Amino acid sequence: MSAATAPPASLFDKSVPGRIGHRPPASDVPATDPAAVLDARLLRKQPAPLPEVSEPEVLRHFIGLSVRNHHVDRDIYPLGSCTMKYNPKINDAIASLPGFAQLHPRQPADQVQGALEVMARLEQALKGITGMDRFTLQPPAGSSGELTGVLMIRKYHASRGADRQTIVIPDSAHGTNPASVIMGGYRTVKVATDGEGRVDRADLKSKLGPDVAGMMLTQPNTLGLFEDHIEEITGMIHAAGGLMYMDGANLNALIGLARPADMGFDITHINLHKTFSTPHGGGGPGAGPIGVTAQLAPYLPGPLVTESNGSYAWEPGGPESIGRMHGHFGNFGMLVRAYAYILALGEDGLRSMSRRAVLNANYLKSLLTDVFDLPYGDGIMHEFVLSGRRQKERGIPTLDIAKKLLDYGVHAPTVYFPLVVPEALMIEPTESETKQTLDRFAAMLHEIDALVDSDPEALRNAPVNTPVRRLDETKANRELDLRWVKS
Ligand SMILES: *Cc1c(COP(=O)(O)O)cnc(C)c1O
Repeated sequence: MSAATAPPASLFDKSVPGRIGHRPPASDVPATDPAAVLDARLLRKQPAPLPEVSEPEVLRHFIGLSVRNHHVDRDIYPLGSCTMKYNPKINDAIASLPGFAQLHPRQPADQVQGALEVMARLEQALKGITGMDRFTLQPPAGSSGELTGVLMIRKYHASRGADRQTIVIPDSAHGTNPASVIMGGYRTVKVATDGEGRVDRADLKSKLGPDVAGMMLTQPNTLGLFEDHIEEITGMIHAAGGLMYMDGANLNALIGLARPADMGFDITHINLHKTFSTPHGGGGPGAGPIGVTAQLAPYLPGPLVTESNGSYAWEPGGPESIGRMHGHFGNFGMLVRAYAYILALGEDGLRSMSRRAVLNANYLKSLLTDVFDLPYGDGIMHEFVLSGRRQKERGIPTLDIAKKLLDYGVHAPTVYFPLVVPEALMIEPTESETKQTLDRFAAMLHEIDALVDSDPEALRNAPVNTPVRRLDETKANRELDLRWVKS
């Protein structure tokens, strides 16, 4: 592309002095000279250097930006563990209603009854789904929910005069689990995965003792497998005096089918931005409410919403509360979206969502195991973890496979996680995708597998169709540079 034909780099580059793209309504207050009412120090010497552009230019600019990155509204986004499912647009419309969007977080409770009612009703729905007795909606992410839970575990043991130092975590755990445990002041104890991809119960038994404050376990686990000995595991931890925390990031697979409280968990977080279809990615916003059994409710962060005779109020945290985890309402817009989704689907709809998520994963798995290894494949739920070791032996690591997928205009799966699978490709299609899309995605992976032998350079050089080629990912993360890349 020559300089003359390249698109303008930024909205500022499109600016032409005097061009006006909007027509503001006539002012309904008398014109006043700013210098007459404002301190001279607060006045600009020159007008603000804003871009002067037409409305279509603004639109093209932002539409152009939106297609330079991948998102779930463009094509499949099968990022395992992250549950990148479609977010119905009506949720956004509802969260944007002025009564929700224009609330001030410090408005007194009698002015925000509707908002408090949404929160109370969402809590009620989450209680039904999980079997837990009380929720806080404050934590702004799953990981923040984990930290909240760990701090509650601490306070629970402290109030009994127990000095326990460790929390057990499987070796397949998501990275936020050990991070939350350590931030909460505990040490982690690692428990191995057995040959079936589940918690190795003999190893777990050998690690239990008076030092164990609890266990954090993902159900279904990060291999996409249901921990079928879950009651035995929760029983072992309870017998040792510990509490069971369920990482509920995979609740997508369980709704209407199994409830955390019935399996013996004492605390669980829910990633509303995964399971209940609120947009996420790019670092937020999210929402990670945690639910607890009655014995832990006194430790929840305050304030909580309470209802009495149809009127709603904030109840401060009790004397055992760990204190606030977030200002004000938490990420309120996410709560509205999640509640809208839950209401729209209803109990049957949510159950069929989980069943379809499981069906889609199992269908896609069946299309791919002819060319990819599946080390732990027995009883997969909503996601599965392939190994690219056969491709690696032929000279192509999983990273190259993931990069080539970008050239097809789809997002890559999660790679190199969980750590217990070599050359891992963790795929979660979600219930949003049709059979046709799953077939197309499998066909891409088959083509890529053929390229491993016929044209390995095409894989090593990928991606070539994206706005940027291969980045130094660590550097790109640490030194974010969003300037337009001139080709
Ligand atoms: C996403 C995820 C988390 C962390 O949740 P965030 O909302 O991203 O903080 C924890 N555990 C598992 C298994 C996850 O997939």
